[in-house]
Amino acid sequence: MDLGLNGRTALVCAASKGLGRGCAMALAAEGVHVVILARGRPALEATAAEIAAQGGKVSLVVADIVTPEGRAAALAACPEPDILVNNAGGPPPGDFRAFSRDDWIKALDANMLTPIELIKATVDGMIGRGFGRIVNITSSSVKAPIEVLGLSNGARSGLTGFIAGLARRTVRQGVTINNLLPGTFDTDRLHVTLAARARAAGRDVEAEVAATAAQNPAGRFGTPAEFGAACAFLCSRQAGYITGQNLLLDGGAYPGTY
Ligand code: NAD
Repeated sequence: MDLGLNGRTALVCAASKGLGRGCAMALAAEGVHVVILARGRPALEATAAEIAAQGGKVSLVVADIVTPEGRAAALAACPEPDILVNNAGGPPPGDFRAFSRDDWIKALDANMLTPIELIKATVDGMIGRGFGRIVNITSSSVKAPIEVLGLSNGARSGLTGFIAGLARRTVRQGVTINNLLPGTFDTDRLHVTLAARARAAGRDVEAEVAATAAQNPAGRFGTPAEFGAACAFLCSRQAGYITGQNLLLDGGAYPGTY
């Protein structure tokens, strides 16, 4: 299927590794000029080199997207994106009794207010040009809260509520806004979380990884490439009638009928 994205421009946040990288690779493969952003230069350069080696168009910005300076650098490099992929690192796990106000503000900044700021800076341009695709990487925790990730459950639900309202007000002008909800995807973040869980329970890390994958109805973790393909479809010309949705990618782990 030709997704109709050739020649478009995308700002893909937190894209040197993991799910953001998967989205950038998939969009670049469709002929999108991707502006990829992350805090660490070496991993970002490696991802940019891989995209370029596959014939993709890529620019990079070394910045922390959670800071005003980082967002300014991103928007200076990509002032008029057709596609915005919002992403940042997730908040740490813990018992809610130990979370300070500062912990909550950090989670809200990274996983709710930063995407809203970037949408605010780009959505009117998209509306003016009659085309836009905004994809927010959130989490399956929005659909089924994860006990130790209270900061994530809360901050991402706040973003989800805001998006639900906005997405209905931009689609008439060709701008869709959707959320992708990852379950367990094979990324650094997942392995760090599983290692911490194994150590806390006194279990072997490799066994923990294997058992977690086996527990999933698909019998495995998702891949960043699968995640990126879903992102590319939501950004496609064909997806213009899909907005305000929360697409769960979890191999069937969520047990509900709807
Ligand atoms: P990852 O650790 O593999 O990659 C994170 C990427 O984000 C890296 O490129 C890192 O450099 C970049 N990054 C982090 N904070 C940044 C910042 N402030 N500014 C710029 N770049 C930044 O993580 P991932 O697994 O790809 O996760 C991406 C998001 O999806 C996270 O918010 C995570 O909590 C969420 N998530 C992931 C999973 C999963 O299974 N992997 C499940 C649910 C939710």
